[in-house]
Amino acid sequence: MTDLSGKTALVTGGSRGIGRGIVEALAAAGCRVAVTATTEAGAEAGAAAARQSGNEALAFAGDVRDSGRTQAIVDEIVAKWGSIDILVNNAGITRDTLLMRMSDEDIDGVIDTNLKGAMYACRAVAKPMLKQRAGTIINISSIVGITGNAGQSNYAAAKAGIHALTRSLAKEFGSRGIRVNAIAPGYIETDMTKDLPAEVTQGALAQIPLSRLGETGDIARAALFLASDDAAYITGTTLVVDGGMSI
Ligand code: NAP
Repeated sequence: MTDLSGKTALVTGGSRGIGRGIVEALAAAGCRVAVTATTEAGAEAGAAAARQSGNEALAFAGDVRDSGRTQAIVDEIVAKWGSIDILVNNAGITRDTLLMRMSDEDIDGVIDTNLKGAMYACRAVAKPMLKQRAGTIINISSIVGITGNAGQSNYAAAKAGIHALTRSLAKEFGSRGIRVNAIAPGYIETDMTKDLPAEVTQGALAQIPLSRLGETGDIARAALFLASDDAAYITGTTLVVDGGMSI
């Protein structure tokens, strides 16, 4: 079993879905976890789930699009816990439609949240992690950042950007003991996918060799692996967790 006792983590968008699953897995491995969400109540729900494992947890309301808020959250974590060992950039949104119909808000909202939000958080943890000469960053992307998807050009572009960000930071930080990786989930059952039309879900299922939709635990276990010393020689990679959907 993975042991992360003594470690500290920040998970963005940890109120529900994939982020919540990662929060619970990190806490169960002994980690102290700080959880963000857009609301205090959402962040607190994630932190309360983490505390079920008997570990300390912190809750922060914070929009990842607000770089100043992200910096303040990281500063508070370091002030309270003395370190930040793991960052999981999970917060994300979709605004799906064909490019011709996409508004400026659809484009900016998705790029600002999924890509720039992650970049701000990476920048905020860089200083403490470089000082520690240790740390690991996990960016949650998507297989559509590799394959592309009609109706998701904003989201796919943001997630492809995450892959480039991941590889670039792996090169920038590697010599200082900091690993940076991405996880590209396939179709995972969460609030993000629950309102998709039945034919979209059936179509996705038909493309998945392992014949089931993904669960949040599938991504959480991958995150736990990348966060742990079992992945000590892995950096700059994108781990696809999609039941084979993208092959
Ligand atoms: P979800 O259930 O909709 O949860 C999204 C999370 O992100 C929530 O915690 C939400 O907080 C948070 N969030 C959204 N905008 C935010 C902002 N501006 N600032 C801070 N937090 C924000 O989505 P999910 O399915 O778990 O997705 C999590 C990640 O996995 C995303 O990056 C998504 O792109 C990626 N992903 C998902 C799938 C899938 O099939 N589900 C597939 C590939 C990749 P609130 O509760 O406060 O709104």
